[in-house]
Amino acid sequence: MSASYICADCDHEFVPEEAGDDPRCPMCSRTEAVEPADTSALQSDIWRQWLVVFALLFIAGIAYVIFE
Ligand SMILES: [Zn+2]
Repeated sequence: MSASYICADCDHEFVPEEAGDDPRCPMCSRTEAVEPADTSALQSDIWRQWLVVFALLFIAGIAYVIFE
């Protein structure tokens, strides 16, 4: 599992050679502008939100069928 990081300063995406708390951008040697570029967590968040929406629609549909 390789965590990639993206530098907000020069837009360079990289995988740090050693997994530390403070990865350094190989392009501009900055550490403060580097952010994790892991988008999978964000995507699963979006999926969870859609799952809630579909669940609510499903429950509403069942309630409609029962009480109509
Ligand atoms: Zn950089």
